[in-house]
Amino acid sequence: MEITVTKKINPTTQISIKFDEEGDLKEALLKATPFMQMSGTCGACGDDKVILQARQTKDGKYIYVELYCPKCKAKQSFGEYKQPKGALFLKGKWEKYTPQPQA
Ligand SMILES: [Zn+2]
Repeated sequence: MEITVTKKINPTTQISIKFDEEGDLKEALLKATPFMQMSGTCGACGDDKVILQARQTKDGKYIYVELYCPKCKAKQSFGEYKQPKGALFLKGKWEKYTPQPQA
């Protein structure tokens, strides 16, 4: 089974992700779903230059995947299912940027 999702994220970036190592169609579809759902516009300000990015925690134990809007700094995070490994889901809401209190 093979599913390829090609998505234009912003005017200069297009990604193409192939899901071809999954056990069955349901699993491939599960993994492909958040990428089919994600929108190329910011849910907070509507700008169309969002970025798909990943960040790793300092201890290297967790990688965060998120859509980020450089214009208003809002982001939409991807969560990760416990099983199957590598299956992500898109969290519903865009979080508006709130400045972190100084430590
Ligand atoms: Zn925005």
